[in-house]
Amino acid sequence: VPARIFEVNAAPTPGGGAVAVLHDVTEIERAEKTRRDFVANVSHELRTPLTSISGYVETLLEDTMELPTHAREFMAIILRNASRMNRLTEDLLALASVESGDYKVKPRPVTAAALMQDAIDSLTGMVLDSDVTLEAGHTTNAVVLADEDALTQVFGNLIENAMKYGKGGKSVVVGAREVEGFVEFSVQDFGPGIGSEHLSRIFERFYRVDKARSRDSGGTGLGLAIAKHIVLAHGGGIRVESELGSGATFLFTLPVVNSSPVVQPAHDAGK
Ligand code: ADP
Repeated sequence: VPARIFEVNAAPTPGGGAVAVLHDVTEIERAEKTRRDFVANVSHELRTPLTSISGYVETLLEDTMELPTHAREFMAIILRNASRMNRLTEDLLALASVESGDYKVKPRPVTAAALMQDAIDSLTGMVLDSDVTLEAGHTTNAVVLADEDALTQVFGNLIENAMKYGKGGKSVVVGAREVEGFVEFSVQDFGPGIGSEHLSRIFERFYRVDKARSRDSGGTGLGLAIAKHIVLAHGGGIRVESELGSGATFLFTLPVVNSSPVVQPAHDAGK
C-alpha cells in the first residue's frame, strides 16, 4: 500500500484540551506532482527545437548575402520571440525544480556582506546596460547558511525587477541587517510601487500587475515565485512592502548560524 500523506491542523478546545484534524492530501499531492512533472517534461522537450530555430535565424541574419529589408525585420521578430520562449522554458524548468519536494539547497556558512557583494558583482553587466545605479546600503558580517548559486538567482530576480519596474527612480539599494536570529536582506527601488490589492498575490506564479508591461520588458511572471521557493528552502521568508507612488522594497530572511564563514564566495575562488 503506498504511503498516504496527511496535513495536520491543531486547535485548542475550550476545556483546555486540543483537537487535531488530519486531512488526507495524498490525491492532491499526487495530482500536483503529475502537473509539475508534465510542465518540466514539456519545457525540457521545447529546448532543442527552440535552440534550432534561434540558431538558423541567427545564421541567416549574419549571412553576408543580400536579404530584403522586410525579411531581416521578420527574422529579428522570430529571434526575439524564440528567445522569449527560451526564457519561459528555462524559468518553468527552474520553478518545477524548486517546487518539487526533492529540491535541496547546498548551503554553506558565508557572511551576509560577502553574499550580498557576490550577488551584486555577478549582475554588473545588467547594471551597466541600465540607466539605474545599484547601491550597496547597510550590511552586516553575521554568518548565514546559504546556497550561493541559488541566492544569486534570488538577488538577480529582485534586482532585475527593481531596475525594470522601478524606472521612475534612479537607484536601487541593496542592504542587509541582523534581526532576531535572522539576517534580513532588502532590495529597494524608488519607482511607481505596487498597489496594496496586489501585494498578497505577487509571489504567485504567473501573477503580474500589468501583463503587457511585464511581457514587453521580457518578464515571464515566474521570477518572484522562484525566489520565494528558494528562500523557503533555506528556512527563511520573503515579503514586499510598497505603496503606490513611493517605490517597493522586497525583503527576505536567512537564519543566522554560529560558525565561521568560508573564506571566499564560491565564484570568486581562483580569481
Ligand atoms: P515578471 O517576469 O513579470 O517580472 P515576477 O514574478 O518577477 O515576474 O514579478 C511579478 C510581477 O510583480 C511583475 O509582473 C510586476 O507587475 C510586479 N513587480 C515585481 N517587482 C516589482 C517592483 N520592484 N516594482 C513594481 N512592480 C513589481
